[in-house]
Amino acid sequence: MAFRSVGVIGAGQMGNGIAHVFATAGYQVLLTDISDDALADAVQRITKNTARQVAKGHLSEMARADALGRIRTTLDLGEVGGTDLVIEAATEREQVKDQIFSDLAGSLEPHTVLTSNTSSISITRLAAKTDRPERFMGFHFMNPVPLMNLVELIRGIATSEDTYQALLATVQRLGKTPASAEDYPAFIVNRILIPMINEAAYTLYEGVGNVASIDAAMKLGANHPMGPLELGDFIGLDTCLAIMHVLHDGLADTKYRPCPLLVKYVEAGWLGRKSGRGFYDYRGETPVPTR
Ligand code: NAD
Repeated sequence: MAFRSVGVIGAGQMGNGIAHVFATAGYQVLLTDISDDALADAVQRITKNTARQVAKGHLSEMARADALGRIRTTLDLGEVGGTDLVIEAATEREQVKDQIFSDLAGSLEPHTVLTSNTSSISITRLAAKTDRPERFMGFHFMNPVPLMNLVELIRGIATSEDTYQALLATVQRLGKTPASAEDYPAFIVNRILIPMINEAAYTLYEGVGNVASIDAAMKLGANHPMGPLELGDFIGLDTCLAIMHVLHDGLADTKYRPCPLLVKYVEAGWLGRKSGRGFYDYRGETPVPTR
């Protein structure tokens, strides 16, 4: 089960990074989204990020041109069904993901393997609604994809050993490091990380500290490279909130209740870096704390 072509669904923060690393590793990449602007932004971002790799001596100009030549975009989801490996990286909402896999069903090749880059949603449940739960897996890349080494591999209850081995080999071909996680809400990384960000939002909500002091405290006091609120903005506050809901619903433990202040930021459309404002305001030269 060797993959040559990859279909990436969703061209947001994660989709563009996933397309980038597969193209530079020699795969043919087809990137799709419901938004033409998202596709144009993704290509622009990949063009810029690969130029940075060339400037740093990590990629030759020729390899960059070849990689960019391997990426094609389309608004037609059906076209993605013809690829060997589908990686769904659309918005973190189960309804959105279910609809995508249902719309894709009619155009899938029999050999196509389906994966989701979901941060938290049950792989078993997503897989059960497709015609190929044994060829379905969680394939969780970290943000920013070109720089982060880890890929979580999550087997649903029906995922076959062949599918797991094929994706393990793919991670190795990308030069990344796999970590296997069981299919429970938010897997390993986000089971630990997102409740910390939610707790930082509570710390702000209860007035224990302000945005600057909370982030400085965790950077200097816990030696974290980014403060938790800065990190929440980087991930996307809508994604953080969606993951808290999955943890709260899936584990039925009040310790996972989403912070009301996090909810309010998302209601305001202050989603973090991607929307220009979150716990920080990114519209000026330097980020300014919003509280
Ligand atoms: P994002 O908001 O940056 O991008 C989501 C993209 O999906 C948008 O471009 C949107 O237009 C597109 N989309 C929505 N509905 C669609 C549909 N029906 N068909 C095709 N495209 C559609 O989100 P993101 O941060 O890239 O997250 C995407 C996925 O990756 C989520 O499942 C998220 O949990 C996961 N993830 C995110 C991070 C992170 O740090 N942001 C890290 C790992 C995994």
